[in-house]
Amino acid sequence: MNSDKSTTENDCVCMTPPFNYKNYESTNIGDDLTNGRYGEVSIKKCMKCGKLWLDYHVEYEGYSGSGRWFRGLISENEASNIAPCSAVNFLEKLDWYFYGGSYFSTTGKMGSGKVMVDL
Ligand SMILES: [Zn+2]
Repeated sequence: MNSDKSTTENDCVCMTPPFNYKNYESTNIGDDLTNGRYGEVSIKKCMKCGKLWLDYHVEYEGYSGSGRWFRGLISENEASNIAPCSAVNFLEKLDWYFYGGSYFSTTGKMGSGKVMVDL
């Protein structure tokens, strides 16, 4: 349902899980192969408010319930400099990020600290 309610910054679609990929412009920046994982790293730009999100997605084939993702706010400058292999470190240094996926049995929660990307 559409509503005419004006949105403040904090109730933007990008701040309210679950997230819909249709609200973002996604730019793939590569894969993180640290520790033999295959993490897909992308920058997602919210088409409603313009915020940039560093998005990390990983899952392990053959392991059901291993899929998980993390996304945290990133500045334009950081986004153009970040390398896929430093994405996890970047997320861990943030005050908070969103995470979710089958591994966590959630479609999106706020978290911080250790980013659990390994099996
Ligand atoms: Zn937004």
